[in-house]
Amino acid sequence: MVSAHSNSEHIDLDEIFGLTEKHLSQIVGLDLKIHRKSEPAFAELQKAAALDGIDIRVASAFRNFERQLLIWNAKASGEWDCLDDAGDCIDLGKLTDLEAVKAIMRFSALPGASRHHWGTDLDIYDAAAVAENYQLQLVAAEYDAGGPFHNLNLWLDQRAGDFGFARPYASDQGGIAPEAWHISHIEQASSYSLAYDPKQLLGYLRGIEFLLKDAVLNNLQYLFERYIQIP
Ligand SMILES: [Zn+2]
Repeated sequence: MVSAHSNSEHIDLDEIFGLTEKHLSQIVGLDLKIHRKSEPAFAELQKAAALDGIDIRVASAFRNFERQLLIWNAKASGEWDCLDDAGDCIDLGKLTDLEAVKAIMRFSALPGASRHHWGTDLDIYDAAAVAENYQLQLVAAEYDAGGPFHNLNLWLDQRAGDFGFARPYASDQGGIAPEAWHISHIEQASSYSLAYDPKQLLGYLRGIEFLLKDAVLNNLQYLFERYIQIP
């Protein structure tokens, strides 16, 4: 096991990089896991939303390194579509390796660098706003005015903070595309983001095989500042 020290709290790198599940508990009734210290706050958020007619459901919670690696390689190989901001498919073969890395990181985290590794971050939607067979896409149009989850979006603006949640990707900083559906339990997540060290990620990724590895490792500081670090 590798470890790092932040100000006061001891944080295992295994937890930062999605290599362990020991800090997680299962979300009741779902095959999804959340940080055990974030679970009570999330339950309170759900309860309060329900009083306002919003049925908050979880589309994605904890995701491990291996799963993120699979997503990364599927996109880098072209097996899965890599989309641009307009939703059009990008031909990564026509880009330089670094451009391809940036195109992927606009929408998908580098393995070892997803906030979903921590169990503190969730992608959520409002089941009360759509039919049971609704195909969730997690795109901006669903959460913007006129979309089914706009009401949830506005509610989160007002209330998420009351339960210790924030939305780290609410606005476009030029790195990761805005994600209105992504909420983060800030107290717990900040202990991970404070302990996050790109040099340790570099060290770990050196020992892993993945597509576009050289472009990632040679530009990791830049990628960290633009796509990983939350200002
Ligand atoms: Zn997310």
